[in-house]
Amino acid sequence: MVYIITGGPATGKGTRSDILAKALDIAHISTGEILREVAKTNKDIKDKLSKGELISDEIITELLRERLSKDDCKKGFILDGYPRTLNQIYLLNDLLEELGRKIDKVIELTAPDELVFKRILERKSCEKCGKMYGIDFPSKVENVCDDCGGTLVVRTDDTKETLKARIDTYNKNSKEILDYYRNVGLLKTVDSSAHPEEIVKQATED
Ligand code: AMP
Repeated sequence: MVYIITGGPATGKGTRSDILAKALDIAHISTGEILREVAKTNKDIKDKLSKGELISDEIITELLRERLSKDDCKKGFILDGYPRTLNQIYLLNDLLEELGRKIDKVIELTAPDELVFKRILERKSCEKCGKMYGIDFPSKVENVCDDCGGTLVVRTDDTKETLKARIDTYNKNSKEILDYYRNVGLLKTVDSSAHPEEIVKQATED
Protein backbone atom coordinates (compact mmCIF):
# COMPACT_ATOMS: atom_id res chain seq x y z
CA MET A 1 0.00 0.00 0.00
CA VAL A 2 1.32 3.43 -0.91
CA TYR A 3 -0.54 6.65 -0.16
CA ILE A 4 0.58 10.21 -0.71
CA ILE A 5 -0.83 13.02 1.42
CA THR A 6 -0.34 16.48 0.02
CA GLY A 7 -1.56 19.95 0.97
CA GLY A 8 -0.23 23.34 2.06
CA PRO A 9 1.34 23.99 5.46
CA ALA A 10 -0.93 23.13 8.41
CA THR A 11 -3.66 21.52 6.36
CA GLY A 12 -3.41 18.60 8.80
CA LYS A 13 -1.15 16.30 6.75
CA GLY A 14 0.72 15.02 9.82
CA THR A 15 -2.29 14.18 11.98
CA ARG A 16 -4.28 12.64 9.09
CA SER A 17 -1.26 10.58 8.02
CA ASP A 18 -0.87 9.28 11.60
CA ILE A 19 -4.52 8.27 11.76
CA LEU A 20 -4.40 6.55 8.36
CA ALA A 21 -1.10 4.83 9.11
CA LYS A 22 -2.48 3.38 12.36
CA ALA A 23 -5.75 2.29 10.69
CA LEU A 24 -3.95 0.53 7.82
CA ASP A 25 -0.96 -0.60 9.92
CA ILE A 26 1.58 0.99 7.58
CA ALA A 27 4.43 3.48 8.13
CA HIS A 28 3.98 7.26 8.17
CA ILE A 29 6.94 8.87 6.41
CA SER A 30 7.16 12.64 6.81
CA THR A 31 10.01 14.19 4.82
CA GLY A 32 9.71 17.33 7.00
CA GLU A 33 10.26 15.14 10.08
CA ILE A 34 13.27 13.41 8.47
CA LEU A 35 14.77 16.82 7.63
CA ARG A 36 14.16 18.27 11.10
CA GLU A 37 16.13 15.30 12.47
CA VAL A 38 18.98 15.88 9.96
CA ALA A 39 18.92 19.63 10.76
CA LYS A 40 19.99 18.87 14.34
CA THR A 41 23.50 18.15 12.98
CA ASN A 42 23.49 19.94 9.60
CA LYS A 43 23.60 23.75 9.64
CA ASP A 44 22.88 24.15 5.93
CA ILE A 45 19.63 22.21 6.16
CA LYS A 46 18.75 23.92 9.43
CA ASP A 47 19.11 27.36 7.76
CA LYS A 48 16.99 26.33 4.77
CA LEU A 49 14.23 24.92 6.99
CA SER A 50 14.09 28.04 9.10
CA LYS A 51 13.68 30.15 5.94
CA GLY A 52 10.93 27.86 4.61
CA GLU A 53 13.04 26.92 1.55
CA LEU A 54 12.88 23.53 -0.17
CA ILE A 55 15.79 21.12 0.21
CA SER A 56 17.29 19.90 -3.09
CA ASP A 57 15.46 17.06 -4.86
CA GLU A 58 18.62 14.91 -4.81
CA ILE A 59 19.22 15.22 -1.06
CA ILE A 60 15.62 14.64 -0.02
CA THR A 61 15.16 11.71 -2.42
CA GLU A 62 18.29 10.02 -1.12
CA LEU A 63 17.06 10.44 2.46
CA LEU A 64 13.71 9.01 1.41
CA ARG A 65 15.29 6.02 -0.35
CA GLU A 66 17.17 5.21 2.84
CA ARG A 67 14.02 5.54 4.96
CA LEU A 68 11.85 3.37 2.67
CA SER A 69 14.36 0.51 2.87
CA LYS A 70 13.59 0.06 6.60
CA ASP A 71 11.52 -2.93 7.78
CA ASP A 72 8.51 -0.90 8.95
CA CYS A 73 7.86 0.11 5.31
CA LYS A 74 7.51 -3.49 4.08
CA LYS A 75 3.70 -3.56 4.32
CA GLY A 76 3.33 -0.07 2.89
CA PHE A 77 3.72 3.61 3.73
CA ILE A 78 2.14 7.02 3.59
CA LEU A 79 4.27 9.80 2.16
CA ASP A 80 3.59 13.10 3.88
CA GLY A 81 5.30 16.12 2.30
CA TYR A 82 6.80 14.33 -0.73
CA PRO A 83 6.70 14.83 -3.73
CA ARG A 84 6.74 18.62 -3.63
CA THR A 85 8.02 19.29 -7.19
CA LEU A 86 7.40 17.78 -10.61
CA ASN A 87 10.95 16.44 -10.62
CA GLN A 88 10.28 14.70 -7.28
CA ILE A 89 7.27 12.99 -8.92
CA TYR A 90 9.56 11.47 -11.55
CA LEU A 91 12.20 10.55 -8.96
CA LEU A 92 9.46 8.92 -6.87
CA ASN A 93 8.14 6.97 -9.88
CA ASP A 94 11.66 5.54 -10.37
CA LEU A 95 12.06 4.79 -6.69
CA LEU A 96 8.68 3.01 -6.49
CA GLU A 97 9.50 0.99 -9.59
CA GLU A 98 12.76 -0.10 -7.96
CA LEU A 99 10.78 -1.15 -4.88
CA GLY A 100 8.11 -2.90 -6.98
CA ARG A 101 5.32 -0.68 -5.62
CA LYS A 102 2.45 1.39 -7.00
CA ILE A 103 0.60 4.40 -5.59
CA ASP A 104 -2.94 3.56 -4.37
CA LYS A 105 -4.18 7.13 -3.92
CA VAL A 106 -2.98 10.73 -3.65
CA ILE A 107 -4.96 12.73 -1.11
CA GLU A 108 -4.97 16.51 -1.30
CA LEU A 109 -5.98 18.20 1.95
CA THR A 110 -7.46 21.68 1.73
CA ALA A 111 -8.18 24.22 4.50
CA PRO A 112 -9.26 27.86 4.61
CA ASP A 113 -6.40 30.36 5.22
CA GLU A 114 -7.75 31.52 8.64
CA LEU A 115 -7.71 27.93 9.89
CA VAL A 116 -4.17 27.42 8.55
CA PHE A 117 -2.86 30.50 10.41
CA LYS A 118 -4.64 29.52 13.63
CA ARG A 119 -3.37 25.93 13.46
CA ILE A 120 0.18 26.85 12.62
CA LEU A 121 0.68 29.51 15.23
CA GLU A 122 -0.67 27.23 17.97
CA ARG A 123 0.95 23.92 17.09
CA LYS A 124 3.88 22.29 18.86
CA SER A 125 5.84 19.07 18.49
CA CYS A 126 7.67 16.80 20.91
CA GLU A 127 11.41 17.46 20.74
CA LYS A 128 12.10 13.80 21.57
CA CYS A 129 9.71 11.74 19.38
CA GLY A 130 8.35 14.39 16.97
CA LYS A 131 4.64 13.82 17.80
CA MET A 132 2.58 16.86 16.80
CA TYR A 133 -0.01 18.66 18.96
CA GLY A 134 -2.35 21.47 18.02
CA ILE A 135 -5.79 23.01 18.37
CA ASP A 136 -7.50 19.76 17.32
CA PHE A 137 -5.12 17.56 19.32
CA PRO A 138 -3.89 19.20 22.55
CA SER A 139 -1.59 17.26 24.89
CA LYS A 140 -3.16 16.04 28.16
CA VAL A 141 -0.57 17.95 30.22
CA GLU A 142 0.51 21.34 28.88
CA ASN A 143 3.86 21.18 27.00
CA VAL A 144 4.43 17.49 27.84
CA CYS A 145 4.21 14.71 25.22
CA ASP A 146 1.45 12.16 25.98
CA ASP A 147 3.52 9.32 24.48
CA CYS A 148 7.08 9.79 25.74
CA GLY A 149 6.99 12.63 28.30
CA GLY A 150 9.27 14.81 26.10
CA THR A 151 9.00 18.61 26.06
CA LEU A 152 6.73 20.21 23.44
CA VAL A 153 8.38 22.96 21.39
CA VAL A 154 7.27 25.35 18.65
CA ARG A 155 8.84 24.54 15.26
CA THR A 156 11.42 27.18 14.26
CA ASP A 157 9.67 27.55 10.86
CA ASP A 158 6.22 28.12 12.42
CA THR A 159 6.27 31.92 12.31
CA LYS A 160 4.00 34.30 10.37
CA GLU A 161 6.86 35.31 8.02
CA THR A 162 8.02 31.77 7.24
CA LEU A 163 4.45 30.60 6.89
CA LYS A 164 3.89 33.11 4.10
CA ALA A 165 7.02 31.86 2.27
CA ARG A 166 5.90 28.24 2.73
CA ILE A 167 2.38 28.94 1.44
CA ASP A 168 3.87 30.76 -1.59
CA THR A 169 6.23 27.86 -2.30
CA TYR A 170 3.38 25.38 -1.98
CA ASN A 171 1.07 27.36 -4.28
CA LYS A 172 3.85 27.78 -6.86
CA ASN A 173 4.65 24.06 -7.01
CA SER A 174 1.37 22.37 -6.15
CA LYS A 175 -0.60 23.01 -9.35
CA GLU A 176 1.56 20.83 -11.57
CA ILE A 177 1.68 18.10 -8.92
CA LEU A 178 -2.10 18.06 -8.49
CA ASP A 179 -2.62 18.20 -12.27
CA TYR A 180 -0.23 15.28 -12.75
CA TYR A 181 -2.01 13.02 -10.25
CA ARG A 182 -5.46 14.17 -11.41
CA ASN A 183 -4.54 13.20 -14.98
CA VAL A 184 -3.44 9.73 -13.96
CA GLY A 185 -6.69 9.30 -11.96
CA LEU A 186 -5.09 9.02 -8.50
CA LEU A 187 -6.12 12.35 -6.93
CA LYS A 188 -8.76 12.73 -4.25
CA THR A 189 -9.42 16.11 -2.56
CA VAL A 190 -10.46 16.08 1.11
CA ASP A 191 -11.58 19.11 3.16
CA SER A 192 -9.40 19.12 6.26
CA SER A 193 -12.08 20.86 8.35
CA ALA A 194 -13.90 17.49 8.29
CA HIS A 195 -13.46 15.20 11.31
CA PRO A 196 -9.84 13.85 11.21
CA GLU A 197 -11.02 10.19 11.28
CA GLU A 198 -12.91 10.82 7.99
CA ILE A 199 -9.57 10.38 6.25
CA VAL A 200 -9.70 6.59 6.66
CA LYS A 201 -13.05 6.36 4.83
CA GLN A 202 -11.97 8.80 2.12
CA ALA A 203 -8.68 7.01 1.51
CA THR A 204 -10.04 3.50 1.33
CA GLU A 205 -13.27 4.00 -0.66
CA ASP A 206 -13.20 4.03 -4.48
P1 AMP B 1 6.66 19.92 6.41
O1 AMP B 1 6.89 19.33 7.76
O2 AMP B 1 6.15 18.92 5.41
O3 AMP B 1 5.84 21.19 6.45
O4 AMP B 1 8.12 20.36 5.85
C1 AMP B 1 8.90 21.31 6.54
C2 AMP B 1 10.01 21.83 5.65
O5 AMP B 1 10.88 20.74 5.24
C3 AMP B 1 9.54 22.43 4.33
O6 AMP B 1 9.15 23.81 4.49
C4 AMP B 1 10.80 22.28 3.47
O7 AMP B 1 11.75 23.24 3.83
C5 AMP B 1 11.35 20.92 3.91
N1 AMP B 1 10.81 19.79 3.09
C6 AMP B 1 9.93 18.82 3.50
N2 AMP B 1 9.66 17.97 2.51
C7 AMP B 1 10.39 18.37 1.44
C8 AMP B 1 10.53 17.91 0.08
N3 AMP B 1 9.80 16.86 -0.36
N4 AMP B 1 11.38 18.57 -0.73
C9 AMP B 1 12.09 19.63 -0.30
N5 AMP B 1 11.99 20.15 0.94
C10 AMP B 1 11.16 19.54 1.82
